[in-house]
Amino acid sequence: MLVFNAKKDLIHFLDNERIKGKKIGFVPTMGALHQGHLALIRKAISETDLCVCSIFVNPAQFNNREDLDNYPISTEEDLGKLKQEGCQVVFLPPSHELYDNPMELRTTLHFGEIETILEGRYRPGHFRGVGLVVVKFFNIVEPDCTYFGQKDLQQYHLIKQIIRDLSYDIRLICVPTERESDGLAMSSRNQRIPGEIRPLASKFYECLQYCRSALLKGEKPEKLQMLAASFLSPYQDLRLEYIELVETENFHIIEKMVDRNKMALCIAGYIHNIRLIDNVMFN
Ligand code: AMP
Repeated sequence: MLVFNAKKDLIHFLDNERIKGKKIGFVPTMGALHQGHLALIRKAISETDLCVCSIFVNPAQFNNREDLDNYPISTEEDLGKLKQEGCQVVFLPPSHELYDNPMELRTTLHFGEIETILEGRYRPGHFRGVGLVVVKFFNIVEPDCTYFGQKDLQQYHLIKQIIRDLSYDIRLICVPTERESDGLAMSSRNQRIPGEIRPLASKFYECLQYCRSALLKGEKPEKLQMLAASFLSPYQDLRLEYIELVETENFHIIEKMVDRNKMALCIAGYIHNIRLIDNVMFN
């Protein structure tokens, strides 16, 4: 497994591989790798000739300083996991390889409505930071395929929009969410949940399942907020931030049921001071 820190070295290496006809798969991550990330890596390895995984905790996408400061870092373990999976290339750039100074960015990208709803609404600036770093990575890696998790469904839609609007010739693949045995979606932030309240963390997923089945049984979507609030009300350590029904093709919030193949239910909430997100499809 090759590890690159400098973008010029990575670009030079990948240019040569491309000349040999190698198909490049790209998996961007912020490290603290778990089975969710590794599912993306495995898929990239199985579908392409060269899997490039980036590990970079992108300061521009954190709207909360405390979240950035507490973000787990475990580079040595991550490299061990990637090697074990058979990942061929890791890009581990120091911050200055991507930003002179992330706090002094003069070029910004605007992504429209997606920035104003759900994650965009509650994490101002988050998607601009994500979008900018992904564009930088796409320009450096020039992958044939890129792999993103369904866990971050709105992010997946942002990337779909970027690829389409900026005419990247990249195939985007959405990989299903990996979960713990109790249903909690795997996340690097889970390791910060205090042990004594950890069993409660899966209640957000249970809440999604409960609301989903109520809607499928004919409950009106306008009851969604009430259903979720009452399901979560016994658990004082949990705080619901939002639950919304969205149309998966365009990521619009919807107020009435549409074709079940085109809907997802998205949730965000806090356990203690740790923010979790999750979603379920209807098909
Ligand atoms: P992150 O390191 O949190 O930026 O995540 C990197 C990639 O892994 C993103 O495309 C995420 O959607 C994906 N990912 C994170 N958690 C999971 C999970 N539990 N299952 C599948 N993919 C995931």
